[in-house]
Amino acid sequence: MILKMKYVHYGKCVRCGKLYPATPNLTTCECGGILDIQYDYEAIKRDFKKEDLKAREKSMWRYRELLPVEDQTAPPPLRVGWSPLYEAPRLAGILGLGKLWVKDDGLNPTASLKDRASSMAVAKAIEAGADTIACSSTGNAASSLAGNAAAAGLKTYIFVPSRAPKGKVAQLMTFGATVISVQGSYEDTFELSKAAIDKWGWYNRNAAINPYLSEGKKTVSLEIMEQLHWKAPDFVALSVGDGCTIAGVWKGLKDLYAIGFIDRLPRLISVQAEGCCPLNRAIAENKPWHPMEENTLADSIAVGVPRNPDKALNAIRESNGLVVNVSDQEIMDAQKLLGRTTGVFGEPAGVTGTAGVKKLCEAGVLGKNDSVVSIVTGNGLKDVANTIAHCGEPISIPSDMELLLKAFAERGIHPEG
Ligand SMILES: *Cc1c(COP(=O)(O)O)cnc(C)c1O
Ligand SMILES: [Zn+2]
Repeated sequence: MILKMKYVHYGKCVRCGKLYPATPNLTTCECGGILDIQYDYEAIKRDFKKEDLKAREKSMWRYRELLPVEDQTAPPPLRVGWSPLYEAPRLAGILGLGKLWVKDDGLNPTASLKDRASSMAVAKAIEAGADTIACSSTGNAASSLAGNAAAAGLKTYIFVPSRAPKGKVAQLMTFGATVISVQGSYEDTFELSKAAIDKWGWYNRNAAINPYLSEGKKTVSLEIMEQLHWKAPDFVALSVGDGCTIAGVWKGLKDLYAIGFIDRLPRLISVQAEGCCPLNRAIAENKPWHPMEENTLADSIAVGVPRNPDKALNAIRESNGLVVNVSDQEIMDAQKLLGRTTGVFGEPAGVTGTAGVKKLCEAGVLGKNDSVVSIVTGNGLKDVANTIAHCGEPISIPSDMELLLKAFAERGIHPEG
């Protein structure tokens, strides 16, 4: 059987421009550059209309024409995508921002945006005839791959740094992955996974190597634009580690622009942790990126050697984007503020984008005339230890009204108003 992707031209190296046929197990260019999947936008424009979406399933797979899968490929079983986009007027008011929306991608099946890439990885692995998928990950790519693969009946080998929070490791063990907890940094973890994948020939779900995965991630911006009725905001803010997510977000926006679904492009806001910001530093200093230590409690973006720097830096530059770095304290403050004003609970890296927006508002860079979408990339239940340490403990007393009154009095709580 000859499989064909109707709307995909080829994979193009972002470094040297070399073209590759879009086979399911495509990886990087022989020059080491990362490939970008190129589409036939004229054909998509002809065949795909906004109205077509009305009848489609509420998942990332509703944008079939913009996804690099064969016509016959069925969406994998877990329902990924179509996470809510909430308008956040109270938080916008506190920050002095014109308009703010929060995209809660922690509501994906394994509780992070990584499900979008993992769903794509499972679809492509099945096309490639593979029965085993592997990846290295700070934690969320791992747990989402394990879950999406388990649902599809595929085996997984997963490499995570030993610092990965318990919530993520619990998911991995539940989903039946073979988990290798590497005693070292994310960089060490990545290198071991690469060697093992080369040795055993597993399907590769490293998003900085497999070019299809940021095509999965881009569905977050396709959804945001559809949820905003195709009216682009001024900015889209998110946290950045390897850089695959921000590259995907930008790709999705450019796709929609190319097929005429939106008539202008938002600017990206790339937010990193002060203790680990190699990409933002490269932009700010207009120099090549250099490795940094992985010094932040936002484990999902503690990436000292970013694996997708070319695409990420291109995305930030092309969008005329902003970069901002935040401290761990600012991240945890943003987690609390977001929770208290919107009811959305994000993990530290999940709320780092919001922390960046807050900081830019306080600095007067963003204000009353700006509209911003802040993507919450992972759920707060992934890592409760840091949250408890920051938000404090509840009132703990025996079941006794006198003690309750006393506790309230001590804390200045006045239930009667
Ligand atoms: C992976 C991840 C990111 C960053 O994505 P990159 O592609 O590594 O830049 C941000 N937030 C969360 C919760 C993640 O899991
Ligand atoms: Zn190349």
